Amino acid sequence: MAIAFWQNSTCVDFVESQTNPNRVRFLRDDGGCYSDVGMMGGVQVLSLGAGCEYFYIAAHEIAHALGFFHEQERYDRDTAITVNSGNVIPDQRFNYNKTQSITIGANNEFDTEYETFEKCNYIIRAPMGYKIEVILKTMTGIDCIPGCVYKGIEVKAMSDHRYTGIRYCCEEDIGTKIVSEGNVMPVIVFNRYEKSTYAFTYRIGMQ
Ligand SMILES: [Zn+2]
Repeated sequence: MAIAFWQNSTCVDFVESQTNPNRVRFLRDDGGCYSDVGMMGGVQVLSLGAGCEYFYIAAHEIAHALGFFHEQERYDRDTAITVNSGNVIPDQRFNYNKTQSITIGANNEFDTEYETFEKCNYIIRAPMGYKIEVILKTMTGIDCIPGCVYKGIEVKAMSDHRYTGIRYCCEEDIGTKIVSEGNVMPVIVFNRYEKSTYAFTYRIGMQ
């Protein structure tokens, strides 16, 4: 019924598949009603546990799988509403964390010395046990080169930050969603010459 609702109200069609490499697996988990937001790549889970067997809940979770966030998490929500967190059950407060919108850049005007890097670090911290989700929004002044050796943005999603994170420097990387393993996620932008900027949004919590 919830699937029919989305099919009838939008141009989205749902096709049952056990083999598509990117697909949503509907299951009944004790953890309750939840879904990843948007396509994560691979098999992702949408759970309708006990108490979730209602049309409006199923339709809500499917909306998450299609890429919708909660409206109260919008970065600009304080211009429209006031959240009184005292009225929210403490362990549910993460649902009211705002999406943050950040732009950082690196500038290196001196391209004479080979190893002259200009770096800019931004460290996102969440409370213990919470995860961070970063979405790349725009990039300017980039060079799309394998390994992003000249310029790029590096997001350290692994909990051990000694590892190099994945680097992005190509137009097609825009829209990429990165979810941290732990509660701290360093974001580094670097430049070997000229100037580049990177805008991303992040939010803390889970769905
Ligand atoms: Zn939700």
